[in-house]
Amino acid sequence: MTFLDTDIFAQIIAGDIPCNKVYETDTILAFHDIAPKAKTHIMIIPKENLVTAKEVTPDNTALFGELFLAAKEIAIQENLEGYKLHMNVDEEGGQVVPHVHLHLLSGDFKTGL
Ligand code: 5GP
Repeated sequence: MTFLDTDIFAQIIAGDIPCNKVYETDTILAFHDIAPKAKTHIMIIPKENLVTAKEVTPDNTALFGELFLAAKEIAIQENLEGYKLHMNVDEEGGQVVPHVHLHLLSGDFKTGL
């Protein structure tokens, strides 16, 4: 797969594309993946339009940390005992949607990420 040319997650943040939202703060949004690779598969994204995790800098580490804080809080909210956190980075790393996102997966894992 190659990078999509449009940031569909920015369109979800803007409300132009619907999503099944599970969690939201001023800076973070999380919603169910449209093609789940596990019983529970949630996308956790920053509302800021960062393309890949290569954009992490000393100035935005707090925002990246918020992705992990959101994962913990969603896991409690969704009663997930254990889970995987996964991030694809850039096209060669398997990333398709050009907006930073952390995959939260739990239960009945399938291959394909
Ligand atoms: P990536 O391969 O870029 O790390 O993962 C992108 C993820 O976004 C995939 O798991 C894919 O199923 C999910 N996805 C793509 N388009 C949409 C969409 O429009 N809505 C939702 N909820 N998930 C999407």
